[in-house]
Amino acid sequence: MSNIEGSVAVVTGAGRGLGRAIAEELGRGGAKVVVNYANSKGPAEEVVQGLGEDNAVAIQADVSDAGQAAGLIEQSVEKFGQVDILVNNAGITIDKTMKKLSPEEWNQVVQTNLNSCYYTVKAALEGFIEQKSGKIINISSFVGQAGNFGQTNYAAAKAGIIGFTKASALELARYNVCVNAICPGFMETDMFSAVPDEVREKIKARIPLGRIGNPQEIARAVRYLVEDGDYVTGQTLNVNGGIFMQ
Ligand code: NAP
Repeated sequence: MSNIEGSVAVVTGAGRGLGRAIAEELGRGGAKVVVNYANSKGPAEEVVQGLGEDNAVAIQADVSDAGQAAGLIEQSVEKFGQVDILVNNAGITIDKTMKKLSPEEWNQVVQTNLNSCYYTVKAALEGFIEQKSGKIINISSFVGQAGNFGQTNYAAAKAGIIGFTKASALELARYNVCVNAICPGFMETDMFSAVPDEVREKIKARIPLGRIGNPQEIARAVRYLVEDGDYVTGQTLNVNGGIFMQ
């Protein structure tokens, strides 16, 4: 069993939504936490205040940019000495049928959701290899497994994360670094609140457990992989109320 206490966690997109819940959960567990944000400076600083300035820092970086993602890892190491836990959570949607979707909108979604995972892992790789330990958790989506109308870009990026997770797990196992993906179902965050009420009801009716998930439920899954997942690698953990079953 790994000890969270005193370890260093980087969580991308941690000012809001699932990333925020994950950062707070790992912080409560005793980790030093890097709260990455792209635009949500105020909310990210709130997370830091909540965890205490000795235990957390907010770092701005657009992780869809390779240079900024590398800068995030570099600044994290400067601040806390190393990175033990990397949670690739940052994500966006631009939902349109393929007929209307532009190549730029395709690229933006793939760049932010998928390429960012490669950029941060690549930047943190040397440290993980030297330490001979580490936990990498990539936030995918059930949409990457099941597909979804109007989300070809997002589904492709999230499915890509699952492949990236498995291949990375194979490469990094020899260094005792575990790499896993979590596939949330519909979760109560800003990303989901854009959905109109009548569509919400239809979505709920499709979920076997009959409700939207709360961010804390993803945060607990991350904590499980960090604390109790020493023999778990290359896996996809579905936390989705049963909306997709493998
Ligand atoms: P959200 O409430 O819309 O928050 C998105 C987060 O991603 C924000 O913190 C945002 O930071 C960050 N972000 C976006 N682009 C970024 C970039 N280029 N660089 C750094 N950070 C960036 O979304 P959420 O629901 O919490 O989603 C979190 C993750 O879970 C995403 O990967 C999403 O695809 C996945 N997911 C969500 C659901 C759901 O139902 N909510 C379901 C399945 C999977 P700023 O605010 O600072 O811009």
